[in-house]
Amino acid sequence: MTKKIDQIIEDVENSLRPFYLEREKITLINQEKVLAAMQEEKLQAGDFHWTTGYGYGDDGRDKLEAIYSRVFATEDALVRPNIVSGTHAIFLCLEALLRPKDQLLSLCGPLYDTMQKAIGLTGEEALNLKSRGILYDEVPLKDGQMDPETFKNYINEDTKIAMIQRSTGYSNRRAFTIEEIQEAIAEVRKINPSIYIFVDNCYGEFTEVKEPTQVGADIMAGSLIKNPGGGLAYSGGYVVGREDLVHQVANQLTAPGIGKECGLSFGMTRQLAQGLFIAPHVVSEAMKGALAFAKVFESLGYTCIPSSQDPRSDIIQSIRLEDPEKLEVFCQAIQAASPVDAHFTPMPWDMPGYEDQVIMAAGGFIEGSSIELSADGPMRDPYFVYFQGGLTYAHCILSLKKVLEEFANKDFI
Ligand SMILES: *Cc1c(COP(=O)(O)O)cnc(C)c1O
Repeated sequence: MTKKIDQIIEDVENSLRPFYLEREKITLINQEKVLAAMQEEKLQAGDFHWTTGYGYGDDGRDKLEAIYSRVFATEDALVRPNIVSGTHAIFLCLEALLRPKDQLLSLCGPLYDTMQKAIGLTGEEALNLKSRGILYDEVPLKDGQMDPETFKNYINEDTKIAMIQRSTGYSNRRAFTIEEIQEAIAEVRKINPSIYIFVDNCYGEFTEVKEPTQVGADIMAGSLIKNPGGGLAYSGGYVVGREDLVHQVANQLTAPGIGKECGLSFGMTRQLAQGLFIAPHVVSEAMKGALAFAKVFESLGYTCIPSSQDPRSDIIQSIRLEDPEKLEVFCQAIQAASPVDAHFTPMPWDMPGYEDQVIMAAGGFIEGSSIELSADGPMRDPYFVYFQGGLTYAHCILSLKKVLEEFANKDFI
């Protein structure tokens, strides 16, 4: 069986070479963008020093934010290690910009699991958006796609923010492409140009040559332990967008009158900058790995989202396993193929912020970092596994091999 598995993987890799070459072209464009931003901001060795106390005069912190602004083509940026996660970065934007009686409108059906509690659609968490008097509605997807023609039926005079979640999250649709996001934004603008367009860009950075802020998004947020941290960031989140909006978000993070002026970088500027520098490459390695998983699992008869033919705009690969045991075996194999904690066995658990039990395989150098190779899935029918990350393509392939071996041991294949 081992020989056969090697052959399956080799055949798939050979068939994917043309796609890998296309991917390298995207890497080159994004690498150029990041490199130019660092040079234009005159990033220098002294910027990696840090301050204490209030954090006044941290040039490196300020430069890193200017670099993010350039990379994402925005007026301003907030890039902080003390934004604790992607959810925190997203929620900061929403709470900063929404007032009582304002409506938050999702243009893409249900939002990511952690947003359900933050908005107040599930649970009774203190200070969720609902308890603040903020209204919420969502435009349903049509065949897994946004349906701009129907936006006008949902937008009303209370609509303050129209939100797009680029990546699939724990859903069963593929990520929206920049082109699709552009069309959706154009439609909202046509209906009411004063609505703020917000994009949850988690897992989307550097997967295409443009970002949502380059096709009209006013403000956008993401996590530094995903794509833009390049696997080096210890923690953090970013918000980029219009200056007046980022200013409000900074005031929400600290206090009105303090905004971006304070906040320690805790010596992390070097890692955040170096992580951003290698992010275009790391993202491409992960995307090549995801494509190889899709191609192999399709050949075994599983439904993959995105399919090996679909356009890609995030690093996530989901595979419909339709069996709780297969989901556990898949995640356990990914864990066993990890550089750290490979000897541990992941089990389903009640993760804060999530409704169903979740099983997570993550044996990375940074806990919870999902730009490192990781796999997870909520324990609910039809048992999709969500596989993402991989700092190197070779590690993705070794993990794929491990998953196939474990599936063969269990006679799943
Ligand atoms: C990861 C993710 C988030 C944020 O999750 P955190 O675990 O809080 O960083 C939000 N939206 C999407 C689509 C995501 O993939």
